[in-house]
Amino acid sequence: MNEGLIPTSEVIYKLIQELNKLPGIGPKSAQRIAYYLLRTSDEQAKNLADAILSVKQTVKLCSVCLNVTDADLCLICRNDKRDHSKICIVEQPQDILALEHTKIYSGLYHVLHGAISPTEGVGTEDIKIRELMSRLQNGSVSEVILATNTNLEGEQTAMYLSRLITPLGIKVTRLARGLPFGTELEYADDVTLTRAFEGRQAF
Ligand SMILES: [Zn+2]
Repeated sequence: MNEGLIPTSEVIYKLIQELNKLPGIGPKSAQRIAYYLLRTSDEQAKNLADAILSVKQTVKLCSVCLNVTDADLCLICRNDKRDHSKICIVEQPQDILALEHTKIYSGLYHVLHGAISPTEGVGTEDIKIRELMSRLQNGSVSEVILATNTNLEGEQTAMYLSRLITPLGIKVTRLARGLPFGTELEYADDVTLTRAFEGRQAF
């Protein structure tokens, strides 16, 4: 943190440091938020703190798809109206939000919680591949859609999964190339994401 941003109170400094660790929050934004919180009512500050704590204490992973949920099964897995013969594989829970927003897909998901990255020491055992393979054992799934990010790690992961799943006789598709290389799914706009989904191809 540069010197100009050091406030006159240690507790404020601590708060700014913590806010600065959040994604997308630089030192200046962290400072702005900290001083905003100082001005806000006790009640509003407490609501924020409570919301953060209860998310950490109550949210767990769906026992089937590993999406975040506050029950044993997430809302998507619990929904009988969805197509249980399709599984769309994503890297992170927030990718599900991006895809659900497009309303183009009505199947189920599987969250890997990461992507294979030899350079960062993330191997096939470090993401939820074993859980995925056990879901595919009972023969009820006819299509797996690989919706990992279009960066190097996402492509490597898609390639690895394709080699693993295709021999099971399950159709494997990959989102179309409408997504520019390097795109993280959660930041893709609805139109691009919808086109990529509609144009998914055998992989
Ligand atoms: Zn689920």
